[in-house]
Amino acid sequence: MSGILTYALHHEGAFNKNSLGAVSEGARLAEEIGGQAAAMVVGGDDLTDDLCASLGNYGATKVYRARAPEGLAQPVVDAMAKVIKDDGYGYALFGGGLLGFEIGAGLTARLSAGVTMEVTAVKAQDGRLVAERPILQDTAIVDVEYVGDTGIIIGRLNAFDVAAPGDGTAEVVDVDVQLEEHSTRAVMVKRGEQRGADVNIEDAELLVAGGRGLGKSEGFDLCEDLAGALGGAVAATRAVVDAGWYPYAAQIGQTGKTVAPKLYLAAGISGAIQHKVGMQSSENIVAINKDPNAPIFEYSDLGVVGDLNKILPKLTEAVKAKRGG
Ligand SMILES: Cc1cc2nc3c(=O)[nH]c(=O)nc-3n(C[C@H](O)[C@H](O)[C@H](O)COP(=O)(O)OP(=O)(O)OC[C@H]3O[C@@H](n4cnc5c(N)ncnc54)[C@H](O)[C@@H]3O)c2cc1C
Repeated sequence: MSGILTYALHHEGAFNKNSLGAVSEGARLAEEIGGQAAAMVVGGDDLTDDLCASLGNYGATKVYRARAPEGLAQPVVDAMAKVIKDDGYGYALFGGGLLGFEIGAGLTARLSAGVTMEVTAVKAQDGRLVAERPILQDTAIVDVEYVGDTGIIIGRLNAFDVAAPGDGTAEVVDVDVQLEEHSTRAVMVKRGEQRGADVNIEDAELLVAGGRGLGKSEGFDLCEDLAGALGGAVAATRAVVDAGWYPYAAQIGQTGKTVAPKLYLAAGISGAIQHKVGMQSSENIVAINKDPNAPIFEYSDLGVVGDLNKILPKLTEAVKAKRGG
């Protein structure tokens, strides 16, 4: 088993950060096990030679380009399965995200491969890859080894760091893929930005962050109202972005973004260490939590014990009244 094929997702002429992290990780690991670091890209005319070759800056030495619909799972499964079979790659690596999960699962079934999802780290051992995966609600980590010809590794979103871009270039190879009949049944109707994705939370001076205590996706309306009144932005914990309540782009923490705003108001957030590392440098931390023993109070400047459903709307009203709007 050697050689790592990493899927890279692009949109409007750029690869996304999560994919660049996976390509960087694939290159690092391929060097350690002595295999080729390759990337797979699927899309239309916007996949120019230059764009594909730019993955060489992140360590890929070869980029396979398939002309097929972009942003859908099944065409990518067809393309990756062909390349893996034809050129004998031992591993397929994904940065995570919903599309990565879907492609990885499809590829696993197609190749009868072994798969590990939610991987937070990968190490090389005796020329093979070992995936680390948290279990039991993230309280323990297990090592997963692969047997057989192919191992599929699906990372958690942003689990892999993007390497500082170098000046490498990758060979671009066009792949002629015969799509399966079922792979052409889904069509992309619309591709756009997610709720909240237009705001750069790393630059915001005031952040209203929501956690599982909001109860449901609609609970974020309370955070958006307060953030709107304050002129700030909304952030989130991993628990809620994993649940699909808010976009991944808003996630703060170890596998999300690191922020240091003037005010970080945490509503319904327990304050797990993996969240803390992404926001502990905030100038002022205010926490609202109904549990007086919530860990977040240990590092908050101001703690409010109570129900966020009552407190957030009152706070929004008060801010609006103070600002005359
Ligand atoms: C490798 C790894 C990486 C991770 N990376 C991240 C990361 O980047 N970012 C991250 O956030 N997490 C990360 N996690 C997950 C982290 O461990 C926690 O599981 C997560 O932060 C918990 O999110 P939460 O606070 O929203 O939910 P919970 O821990 O469930 O907390 C919900 C809180 O809401 C309170 N609450 C409930 N109802 C109300 C109410 N009506 N009013 C007020 N308070 C209420 C509860 O008392 C509780 O404290 C990672 C974990 C691992 C293992």
